[in-house]
Amino acid sequence: MKSNPFPVNPPVKLSVLLPLPLNGAFDYEHSHLLPPGTLVKVSFGSRVRYGITWEGEGKPSTVPKTLKPIITAFEGVQLPEASLKFLTWVSDYTMSARGQILKMILPTPEAFEACGEQLYGIAKLPQRMTAQRQKILDFLHLNPEPLSISELVEKSGVSKGIINSLVKEEVLSLQGVRPWAAPHEMLQTEPEKPQLSSDQLVAAEEIKKSLDSHQFHTFLLEGITGSGKTEVYFEAIDHVLQKGGQSLVLLPEISLSTQWLQRFKKRFGFQPALWHSDLGKSERKATFRTIMEGGIPIIVGARSALFLPFPDLKLIIVDEEHDGSYKQEEGVIYNGRDMAVVRARLSGATSVLASATPSLETELNVQSKKYGHLQLNSRYGGAELPEVKLIDLRKVKRNGSEWISPALRGALQQTMERGEQAMLFLNRRGYAPMTLCRSCGDRIMCPYCSVSLVQHKHQSKLLCHHCGHVSRLPSTCPSCQEEETYCAIGPGVERIYEEVKTFLPHHRCALLTSDHLTSSQKIAEQIQRIQNHEVDVLIGTQMMAKGHHFPLLTLVGIVDGDSALSGSDLRASEKSFQLLHQVAGRSGREQRRGQVLLQTHQPEHPVMQALVGHDKAQFAALEAEQRMMHGFPPFGRLAALILSGRKEDEVQKAARALARTFPVTDKAELLGPTPAPLVYLRGKHRWRLLVKTAKDFAPQPLLKMWLAHTPLPPSVQIQIDIDPYSFF
Ligand code: ADP
Ligand code: ZN
Repeated sequence: MKSNPFPVNPPVKLSVLLPLPLNGAFDYEHSHLLPPGTLVKVSFGSRVRYGITWEGEGKPSTVPKTLKPIITAFEGVQLPEASLKFLTWVSDYTMSARGQILKMILPTPEAFEACGEQLYGIAKLPQRMTAQRQKILDFLHLNPEPLSISELVEKSGVSKGIINSLVKEEVLSLQGVRPWAAPHEMLQTEPEKPQLSSDQLVAAEEIKKSLDSHQFHTFLLEGITGSGKTEVYFEAIDHVLQKGGQSLVLLPEISLSTQWLQRFKKRFGFQPALWHSDLGKSERKATFRTIMEGGIPIIVGARSALFLPFPDLKLIIVDEEHDGSYKQEEGVIYNGRDMAVVRARLSGATSVLASATPSLETELNVQSKKYGHLQLNSRYGGAELPEVKLIDLRKVKRNGSEWISPALRGALQQTMERGEQAMLFLNRRGYAPMTLCRSCGDRIMCPYCSVSLVQHKHQSKLLCHHCGHVSRLPSTCPSCQEEETYCAIGPGVERIYEEVKTFLPHHRCALLTSDHLTSSQKIAEQIQRIQNHEVDVLIGTQMMAKGHHFPLLTLVGIVDGDSALSGSDLRASEKSFQLLHQVAGRSGREQRRGQVLLQTHQPEHPVMQALVGHDKAQFAALEAEQRMMHGFPPFGRLAALILSGRKEDEVQKAARALARTFPVTDKAELLGPTPAPLVYLRGKHRWRLLVKTAKDFAPQPLLKMWLAHTPLPPSVQIQIDIDPYSFF
């Protein structure tokens, strides 16, 4: 008797992790085993979902009695091992569910459904004709090239529903697949490799040595703005490009990076692949899929790019490593800079943190020799640092609505006479941060947040910068019933613009804020106009502080140097210094020496003195001393718990209850509970607790145990922020 040539193996049980806020994986049935991390499609509840096979350590939340089969297994489409380890690591560290991290790692799993966009054309005439159907058929007669459904919708103006119904009736049929657009264009121009200075060479060699060792290592690449850090890490990227492997560059604000991208293109001769929230759907899919297949050598992105499934990551650059935008404050709360170092470690890659004003955390890691230190000591090409002068606002007599002191005004006029450019910096969007009733003092507040509404003149609206609430300026004060009594208090950039116009009426001023430049396209155009000297005075928020290089810009005026110093933020001084230093660095980047005028009420403050003396080291030492004294980061650790809910008393009660059960230990201290600085946000009341531990004590196990012991009422939500960066 012959044996069966195709023995039927019994089905196997596989655990599947789903991109949902759940820790556990669920069991499904499949004909054979799949390696962990394989992309699968399963039905879950009433929906079909993508997930990955998972060597579960977490217990499934429910075990189905009869196992459902895996609907589709994408054989060979598998998350790299380092991505799986990263998933677990980030989930444990941030105390977020496994599934939440998976969602970040698998942003568009449907990219693996087809190798491109499906294109449709006319197959036959419909049985029933309507005006809309006629319209699409006419369109396709004139344009016989098959198109994707979204293109058909966009170009013909016919709704998606109608087009889909025609596809269903097979009037429109699949006529081809357009491969995903290549996410980066190949060599277009001859790369222009600069001759590195000796400082730059030394730094680049160190990074290359680390890359060649295939051992994890992290460097701080430190140097004042314009010292040539970018060229150094370009050299490292080039090295990876030659030897094979993937490089990831994180930039703090990718939409503002047109100049950076131009430089990249010049240096390498092609555009890198991009990853950020503005990316179109099909570009997203194409990029995601190609990265996972190892087909993209260089990707430049926002912090979310860190979660992409790189199979062969060799180098991660974090430019402006001190920048606050690396911290994600919602959903999974994490610091992209710190996670970048972890991700590099899991791949045995090299990470390079670049900054002119490194964070104290990074400085400490350099001092303790955890990170290597690469330093560039002067501006490239010998450009001098700008001269920083303080204007003591206590000594300036000013009338009501003037915010620019006579000294700053004079400097602006002189700069214009020399035919150069100037920038005024104020980190406050809108026209005025506050609106008061002249007769009763009533202040217009956001109904959903404990903050003033900000006047925006150019949109003639009152706006909440926290929740987006919009209202109009009332003509009658609701408290005292007087008419037309509201007046604007304090300046925003729009008001500064108005003031500049009074004494420079014939010069071209431009407002540079996220309200005025609403797309990356508009930003790029405006930057081009500034480069072409079609703008004389730039007035902007921190949007303008980053990375730009304008050769004619020789004067920077800082309207309110104190604005970030106040408040309850333990990093207020550090952040102020970093921001003001970066703004100041926009001035005098080429042959012409730059000037910075800084208006302040606290000229003796260490931040101001450090800026004047270009003495970062002394400032950092002072700041470090104070943090050390109190055991604050980077010398200790913090974890913040934010409780929020619709009912104030319930939130307060829950916060107090939690505080009462805090475990007694000499390793950790509880600060609070207190009402959060923003005590009311998006319609919710908020209380904070802060847990402070020694540096060598990981707070997560303690938090886990503590929170498990004290369940919260369902009306109160909790957010855990490990290593909080902001204290709002
Ligand atoms: P950073 O990143 O430290 O702010 P950049 O790398 O942007 O400094 O360099 C500042 C300026 O000097 C840029 O315009 C850059 O093109 C130029 N530059 C830096 N290094 C070199 C070099 N080796 N050869 C030619 N130009 C250079
Ligand atoms: Zn609000």
